[in-house]
Amino acid sequence: MKILLTGGLGYIGAHVCTLLQSRGYRVVIVDNLVNSSKQMLRQLLAIDSKNPPILELLDITNTKDLEKLFQQHDDLSGVIHFAALKSVNQSIQKPLKYYHNNIIGLIELLKVVEARSLPLIFSSSCTVYGQSDVLPITENQPFKPSYSPYGFTKQMGEQIIKDTTSTNEQFKAMSLRYFNPIGAHDSALIGQWPINEPENLVPYITQVAIGKRKELKIFGDQYDTPDGSCVRDYIHVMDLAEAHLLGLEYLWSSKSNYYVFNVGLGEGVSVKRLVKRFEEVTKISINHRITNPREGDVPIAYAEASKIQTQLGWIPKYSIDEALLSAWKWEQYLDSSGLSIDST
Ligand code: NAD
Ligand code: UDP
Repeated sequence: MKILLTGGLGYIGAHVCTLLQSRGYRVVIVDNLVNSSKQMLRQLLAIDSKNPPILELLDITNTKDLEKLFQQHDDLSGVIHFAALKSVNQSIQKPLKYYHNNIIGLIELLKVVEARSLPLIFSSSCTVYGQSDVLPITENQPFKPSYSPYGFTKQMGEQIIKDTTSTNEQFKAMSLRYFNPIGAHDSALIGQWPINEPENLVPYITQVAIGKRKELKIFGDQYDTPDGSCVRDYIHVMDLAEAHLLGLEYLWSSKSNYYVFNVGLGEGVSVKRLVKRFEEVTKISINHRITNPREGDVPIAYAEASKIQTQLGWIPKYSIDEALLSAWKWEQYLDSSGLSIDST
């Protein structure tokens, strides 16, 4: 079976690609390289050259290109939609860029996917909950007004998809609300590969560990949490990848049209604790200091993770320590190989 991954050269898409390849699926990747590089394709080939993904370089906001793509690949069994811009900060500076890319991109994709009734998985985020009143966060918690245009694009995206499924009995979709994906493929040949200074915590930690950055800033330690720093639910990217495959399999046999699942381990870990765990598993000390809180950060977010386990049979395999070690191996690989993300 052939699966289309929009944004498949990005962090999460590339890991899902390896999983699909290893299970015998053919993969078509659509990407415009706005936040990735063709080097990622070479890395994917280094992991599995026998069943290589097909790369289609195009922008999903371009209606004509998308229509042509779906005519060319008329034998698809499903679509996983990763392609989006994801910087919270940048989305505040450039809201139109984010609404255009993430909302127009989704709408254009939906037009072709819905017309063919192809099952669709959407990359959503725990950001839709804002600071939830209830912890752990269940899927039925209401959306809070988002702090950023990025967050709004995930809330709107889910609504647009849900509304579209309600108009076509044959069209099925699922929103996966990721908590905090971290880590890298077991091979260490792919991982999170920020083009600029990392905004996410783990790539920042690994870049400090390798000596690329001087110090980690911990954004605030006066929150109402056990040690004052923010609490998140970190999940290994390959466990997250598995959730996509289970999601597709579920959609192929499901009766309802629209589903929502949290994807997290259900374990709240503070920033300070995560840094400590990294230091413990790698025996490297991370130079860090406490700074002001980052605007828009919610103090605590972790998932009630049982729905996806019960309904889809998803069983996470990796611990947070294993995820941290894999991220560290990837950083070391990047350092020793001299690879650069802009080397297209
Ligand atoms: P990423 O930036 O690494 O990957 C996204 C990919 O999409 C990139 O390769 C980029 O070039 C491509 N892309 C963006 N706009 C495009 C367009 N218009 N046409 C074609 N390609 C386009 O991001 P990621 O971390 O892999 O995230 C994947 C998805 O998961 C995103 O939708 C993101 O919002 C969501 N998500 C990510 C996280 C996280 O922490 N990484 C958390 C929650 C949700
Ligand atoms: N964080 C931090 N320093 C950094 C990056 C992140 O202290 O350089 C904190 C951030 O405030 C949040 C947690 O680490 O509490 C996870 O942040 P990330 O950006 O990775 O994911 P988010 O939860 O914001 O989606």
